[in-house]
Amino acid sequence: MASNTTEDLFKNIISHSKEYGFIFQSSEIYDGLSAVYDYGQNGVELKKNIREYWWKSMVQMHDNIVGIDAAIFYASYYLKASGHVDAFNDPLVDNKDSKKRYRADVLIEDHVAKIDAKITKEVEKARQRFGESFNEEQYRSTNPRVMEYQQKIDAINTRFKAALEANDLVEVKQIILDLEIVCPISGTRNWTDVRQFNLMFNTQLGSVSEESSTIYLRPETAQGIFVNFLNVQKTGRMKIPFGIAQTGKAFRNEIVARQFIFRMREFEQMEMQFFVRPGTEDEWYTHWKEKRMTWHRSLGFPLNKQRFHDHLKLAHYAKAACDIEFEFPFGFKELEGIHSRSDFDLRNHEEFSGKKQQYFDPELNENYIPYVVETSIGLDRMFLAIMSQSYVEEKLEDGSERVVLRIPPFLAPIKCAILPLMKKDGLPEKASEIFDKLKFDFIVTSEEKDSIGKRYRRQDAIGTPYCITVDHQTLEDNTVTIRDRDTMAQERISIDEVQRILREKVDVNTALRKL
Ligand code: ATP
Repeated sequence: MASNTTEDLFKNIISHSKEYGFIFQSSEIYDGLSAVYDYGQNGVELKKNIREYWWKSMVQMHDNIVGIDAAIFYASYYLKASGHVDAFNDPLVDNKDSKKRYRADVLIEDHVAKIDAKITKEVEKARQRFGESFNEEQYRSTNPRVMEYQQKIDAINTRFKAALEANDLVEVKQIILDLEIVCPISGTRNWTDVRQFNLMFNTQLGSVSEESSTIYLRPETAQGIFVNFLNVQKTGRMKIPFGIAQTGKAFRNEIVARQFIFRMREFEQMEMQFFVRPGTEDEWYTHWKEKRMTWHRSLGFPLNKQRFHDHLKLAHYAKAACDIEFEFPFGFKELEGIHSRSDFDLRNHEEFSGKKQQYFDPELNENYIPYVVETSIGLDRMFLAIMSQSYVEEKLEDGSERVVLRIPPFLAPIKCAILPLMKKDGLPEKASEIFDKLKFDFIVTSEEKDSIGKRYRRQDAIGTPYCITVDHQTLEDNTVTIRDRDTMAQERISIDEVQRILREKVDVNTALRKL
């Protein structure tokens, strides 16, 4: 079904992800576990390639950043130190008619986003009207209607920020009522009181159930980095500024987990904690904001797909924080967070553990607890961003249609498909000879079934950048046709050239060099 609306588009991306082995609902045969997903044969490759691109750009490209892989179980005392046991909450509210549960902050943010969308619409209309001479800044600061919308947004944000900072849940509910926000299902304003809900999953270590044996599944990977800060600094003889990177699973008992893999209960993060001299954190915060945006832009998606968004309310640890937002089919949403965390975490770990978490700075000849700037991105969200940006429904010149995943070639699950034209005359044998040659360097696949046109479509649908067709001429002169996924152009080349072409076109280093 063609995507006429963004809603259709999102539905089609979800069904495409399943149909082509990217993402399956977890425990599907038992009716599924809500907000938990499994990655299929193509999904696992794409996910691995994104993770690897991130890892290389952080660890391999910086001689002052190293990686670790810490445990998923977190002891309760170190989550107490990090503030998670007491403050890792989301405000929830139920609609009494639909019995649906919502995050109160998200209801308000979505309301603000709707007003913001009206501003964008006005601005776009004016841009078309005025053409080249349009001055957006001036328009936003002088057009009465836009100014009125903006004042509304500012007033809501100020009130909401104050309520959150004072942890005043009665006021949060009052804001929802005053804004006349209705439940999208029941359409009513019949809301319960707003309550705080802790998002962490816990379990017991060993057989005795007492408070000290409660452990948590980590809600973020960062704390595993903090508690290993001195281990890495000492054994790696690291000098400040330096970073520690980590990728791995995190777990949150999300109140509202819709929107496919955007918000999951079990997900993967890619985080980097950068330890700096106190007083230099603002500089590094700006540095990492720019660096991370460059990383996103290196994928070649349109520039207006990403934007920065400063946090209204800072988390319990943060000194400054912003998000890199991506325009998903359901609107601009957080993809990555960049946080200036001060010395909050290390200072608390020092206090709770009684062990000094300090660094001796030889240049200053003094000890201090370093400040931290963190970059934190969800791997699954990045996956969804790439899927939603790459998924294209195309009408071809001959009137037929195809779905093509325009995944950046270096991230594509399969780099090349080898397709013998027929299942006879020695063509499959020749194809498997080529497979054996390429398999050491690339993930390649070989397919014999169905017409060549159908096989091309299947490869387009999983984003394979190149297809090689083996035909009778191949047996005579050792040449094949290579077909480009995006242009569909075909070229006859010598088999000996294939490796070089693939290496040039799908090499991750080309992307890394642009960073
Ligand atoms: P949100 O406001 O969307 O709940 P957050 O601000 O709580 O996100 P962080 O704690 O900053 O998120 O986590 C860093 C990154 O981890 C996010 O930018 C996001 O990409 C990812 N992430 C967080 N929660 C989830 C989740 N439930 N499912 C998938 N990815 C997540």
